[in-house]
Amino acid sequence: MTVLLKSYIQDNWIAGEAPFSTLYDPSTEAAVAETSTRGVDFAAAFAHARGVGGPALRAMSFAERGALLKAMSKALYAQREHLLDVAMKNGAGTRGDAKFDVDGATGTLAYYASLGKRLGDASHLVDGEVGGLTQSARFGGVHLRVPREGVAVHVNAFNFPAWGTFEKAAVALLAGVPVITKPATSTAWLAYEMVKIVIDAEILPPGALQLVAGSAGDLLTNLGGQDMLAFTGSADTGALLRGGDGPVARSARVNVEADSLNAAVLGPDVEPDSDLWHWFVNAVVLEMTQKAGQKCTAIRRVIAPADKLNDLQESLTDALDRVVVGAAGTSGATMGPLATASQLRDYREGVAHLAEQAPIVYGSHTEVSPVGAEEGKGYFAGPVLLRAADALAADRVHDREVFGPVATLLPYGDADEAVAIVARGGGSLVTSVASNDRSFLKTLGLGIGAWNGRVMIIDKKVADQSTSHGMVLPQLVHGGPGRAGGGEELGGERGLGFYLQRVALQGNRALLEKLFTK
Ligand code: NAP
Repeated sequence: MTVLLKSYIQDNWIAGEAPFSTLYDPSTEAAVAETSTRGVDFAAAFAHARGVGGPALRAMSFAERGALLKAMSKALYAQREHLLDVAMKNGAGTRGDAKFDVDGATGTLAYYASLGKRLGDASHLVDGEVGGLTQSARFGGVHLRVPREGVAVHVNAFNFPAWGTFEKAAVALLAGVPVITKPATSTAWLAYEMVKIVIDAEILPPGALQLVAGSAGDLLTNLGGQDMLAFTGSADTGALLRGGDGPVARSARVNVEADSLNAAVLGPDVEPDSDLWHWFVNAVVLEMTQKAGQKCTAIRRVIAPADKLNDLQESLTDALDRVVVGAAGTSGATMGPLATASQLRDYREGVAHLAEQAPIVYGSHTEVSPVGAEEGKGYFAGPVLLRAADALAADRVHDREVFGPVATLLPYGDADEAVAIVARGGGSLVTSVASNDRSFLKTLGLGIGAWNGRVMIIDKKVADQSTSHGMVLPQLVHGGPGRAGGGEELGGERGLGFYLQRVALQGNRALLEKLFTK
């Protein structure tokens, strides 16, 4: 029995018309759900959000909207086991992978709920001080941030159907903007179940949240000048959507989170078998294998001193030997399958492409023996480590994101070369640097800053206390320059900015202060 996914439009659940897309369990290749958005009236969804959802949200304070997020987080958490089960049947891989996605969603909602509480009774933000503009003491100006009167359209990637949906929704709803959310079709089941839980719990005002459960069709042709499109996915799709009529002709705002060739840099001072060495090895293996490497933040480029590369390869080999590829829910399996048949094809083709410049030194992209899986079934891939002799000459490693359990070892000579190798990725979401050498950390931190959205600086004092390289925290900005999309999400209060209009008010300074800043 497959589940029929419906879209939630104008406060009604609507099934699309045939033909339907089929969603699969990647461990068994069994069909688990089907969906279509054909015949769904997207123009009506925009009108409903603008006319009903927006005014209701704007009438609330930040604290009141924060309370909605808190209730959403609680309602979803109450059905966590069900959600983990759905996640594992439709793309998540292991139970740990499912938790990473689902708990990331409820955690981000809870974080923005507490931010709403902190922002209190206000319904707009004051941006800076009221300042004088002329010699007159009476005349002055101030900037405010007020909710835009449009719709937040969220288009998400297949790899985080839970977190992607709700990290975006949390910020938009807190800002006072209604949401139309669209998960990737291949893993839309989890997002559908989660939106259903929130709707059934009657938490949100009508029109505040609508779901497009499948293909976007002509959804984005409706984008107008007060609307915002937040996209996560491949660089190609991002470029296409950025060039649409809404953004180009009507100035709809666009935020793009695209693919990224993230890196980890081992300092020259880090000795094999030290705590920092172990942190580094564990970080690389976790990022290669969590969600089978299908994370936008995964470490793709492992940059290490040339004279330590052999030792590092040996340590990584030992750790990768302990990875057990297997079907979701199988005891002992530490890495699940890729999400879809096409992801597996892309992975195999991508590794072969990279391996022409950086030979495989561990694993195989074509052969794997998963535990708990039926012979010949499932979209499984084993972890693969590549190694380039000349880091900067191996172009492909810096140009092609292979979305699976693969990373490449790259040697560097000195700190400046390490910076150049990181920058060669053209803009990344995150790079980690592990060292106890302060001068190296400073050179790296400042040198790669312009090429990353986030830089994780790890020394021995925090090696056992840090969050993981790939974990996106709501307190810090998520996004990266250049090929990573040039976008910025989250970052606490900063994230609200995308959904708020900054308006400069000028006039009677005392009046401005009294009316708008208290
Ligand atoms: P994708 O193929 O670009 O699809 C992303 C989303 O765009 C899906 O919802 C897809 O819908 C939709 N889409 C595709 N063509 C569209 C069009 N013409 N109009 C409107 N919507 C369209 O990417 P993906 O394969 O799902 O995701 C993998 C990529 O996402 C990787 O490159 C990864 O690095 C990146 N990613 C980045 C981040 C980040 O935060 N930076 C996070 C996660 C993933 P359908 O599924 O219905 O086609």
